[in-house]
Amino acid sequence: MIVLSRSERVALYEIPEVQVLLKMFADGSLRELLPEIHPALGVQYPKMDEVTGNVQKTKDLLVQLVRAGILRAKFYEKTMICPRCGSKNVTFRYYCAYCGSHEIEKRELYEHIECGTIDGDDRFMKNGKIACPRCGKPLDKLGVDYRQVGTWFGCRGCGKRLDAPEGKHYCRQCSLRFGVKESAMDDVYSYVLDKVAETEFARETLFLGELKKILQEAGYEAEAPAVIWGVSGASHNFDLVGFKTQPDGSRKTVVTLDMAICARALAPENVISIFAKTLDVSPTKPILIAVPALSDTAKKLADLYKLEVIEGEKPEEIFQEFREALDKITDIS
Ligand SMILES: [Zn+2]
Ligand SMILES: [Zn+2]
Ligand SMILES: [Zn+2]
Repeated sequence: MIVLSRSERVALYEIPEVQVLLKMFADGSLRELLPEIHPALGVQYPKMDEVTGNVQKTKDLLVQLVRAGILRAKFYEKTMICPRCGSKNVTFRYYCAYCGSHEIEKRELYEHIECGTIDGDDRFMKNGKIACPRCGKPLDKLGVDYRQVGTWFGCRGCGKRLDAPEGKHYCRQCSLRFGVKESAMDDVYSYVLDKVAETEFARETLFLGELKKILQEAGYEAEAPAVIWGVSGASHNFDLVGFKTQPDGSRKTVVTLDMAICARALAPENVISIFAKTLDVSPTKPILIAVPALSDTAKKLADLYKLEVIEGEKPEEIFQEFREALDKITDIS
């Protein structure tokens, strides 16, 4: 759900750090912004920290980008928080039910399959090698020569044997031991780029921002987006318009540009509606940019209507073709 207006989102796209991050999503080098959970520092997003250079800035930008509907938060996992001090530096420990020590050892019981001897794992070790404690035969493969027949735990505090020690969370900050019922939990998210925002960002920032610059470098006054009044008296919206000021002070509409980014080829209806407003405004050079392409029928229509068509997937190819199209314009007086 996009809750901010388009212009507020476009303002966010203008932030250099946001541009770097969204370009990483756009070119596929980043598919999902994943968290890393640091024991003392909590949840971090190192890929984004590289861009912002600052953990707090990362946090603030993520909040803004999610609120704007540009990024979508995906549940990643729950982290445990100490219910007494709020620290995220929480670990899990196993405790002896008799003396409360957490110095617990896991022990195994082995059987030499051939002779049937069963004993503790320490008794099966001889000079760093595994051998049967009774018949002395060296044992090679677990599950073939010998097998594990049981597990138990030994407490180094009181020396007692335990079937299963008691698991508890432990706060490294304030030393509180707590169970799941006393615990506090926090959601951790990963982030993906919203599909609608991805297209909008590509249009507004990757393409139109640069196309406007190219138009200005070619000596035009540029507006993006622009509203132009046609001879009929109706107003029409264009993604980008290039003007030239005439000797009498009036502005001549030389270049009009419409840009469509679609998953599949652009449909003929879009070309018809562009033709209708172009006819009313009569610019010197109407241009239609389709990313990645027009459908065959749409292309035939565009030729018929004398719309200059630029197709492509990569921004660089499109910018180059746009420069070439501008170079071909001669009638600008
Ligand atoms: Zn604590
Ligand atoms: Zn044996
Ligand atoms: Zn104990």
